[in-house]
Amino acid sequence: MRWRAKAVIATCGLLLAGLASPVQAKANQPIDLDIMFIGAHPDDEAGQLGMFGYWNETHDMKAGVITMTRGEGGGNAVGLEEGPALGILREAEERRAVGWAGVKNVYNLDALDFYYTASAPLSEQIWGYQNSLSRIVRTIRTTKPEVIITMNPSATQGNHGNHQEAAMLAVEAFYAAADPRAFPEQINREGLKPFRVARLFQSGGGGTSSNGPACETTFTPSQPTNVIFGTWQGYESATHDGTRWNQVNVWARREYASQGWADTGDAQSNPASIGCNRLTMIDSRTPYPDPNLGGTTALQGTSIRAKGGLPSVPRCTCARRAGRCWPGSRSWSRPTCGPPRPSRARG
Ligand SMILES: [Zn+2]
Repeated sequence: MRWRAKAVIATCGLLLAGLASPVQAKANQPIDLDIMFIGAHPDDEAGQLGMFGYWNETHDMKAGVITMTRGEGGGNAVGLEEGPALGILREAEERRAVGWAGVKNVYNLDALDFYYTASAPLSEQIWGYQNSLSRIVRTIRTTKPEVIITMNPSATQGNHGNHQEAAMLAVEAFYAAADPRAFPEQINREGLKPFRVARLFQSGGGGTSSNGPACETTFTPSQPTNVIFGTWQGYESATHDGTRWNQVNVWARREYASQGWADTGDAQSNPASIGCNRLTMIDSRTPYPDPNLGGTTALQGTSIRAKGGLPSVPRCTCARRAGRCWPGSRSWSRPTCGPPRPSRARG
């Protein structure tokens, strides 16, 4: 795989905490996230914020966002800024928007937003493959999310090449972050450790279901082999005076004013007509429940205990190189397992 090739080692420091968030973490605070969204531009996470906020409020799930660029190649509906000045404006919008969902950690990885293209190969050429993947892997190893959510990596009609490339890098990072042979300088020189993210999702998912809370339990995927989870967007938010999360998501969306979203209309208010946010599973290292059991099934078996399942995700590491933890392999050594992570689920 390509990360094993001679890497162009990223020597730039990672921007661990950003410029303008009122809730940003301090640089020296240890960060342990549960979920990481990986996108290309500072609004790609917009559709997930109601779900992130609901999970954060009810289950203390901490989400972060990796944004490959600052969106400086996009349009500006509110002023004359363009290029780097627009990128700074968009980063500030993003940090305000994700704050509605309790997201404090945004990582802008400084890839160039050059212009709209449907080409992932062109995006890879301009961003730099090794450098981009290295930065994502470093962020994953630093923040230790149990779940990655990314975009659609496929070259489907109209899918932005930047989105495809960010998603493909996210998929590669899911595997590379766990591989001690990938970017070993991060381990040998920077003190990071390989980290095995438990589950990987692509946002969205095709299929049919009823609306209302039953959207979580009545979904039929259009491709029967797809594993697609749903989270109802109509739950009420206690921290927003009972406003439903689909409306809080609209308030967040209005923060992306440079993208022309400041006038976004109010959300559907009839609970029976409110649908689900969908996630399609790409891979999972842990057993997962039937997606149609509803509730927090997308996260069960990762940061949240699965109903009837083991008490937590085992946290074991091999003292030796990968592959030597298997009984019977040469130089077999038993993995070292730390104390189980306490479940943060409230119900
Ligand atoms: Zn985008």
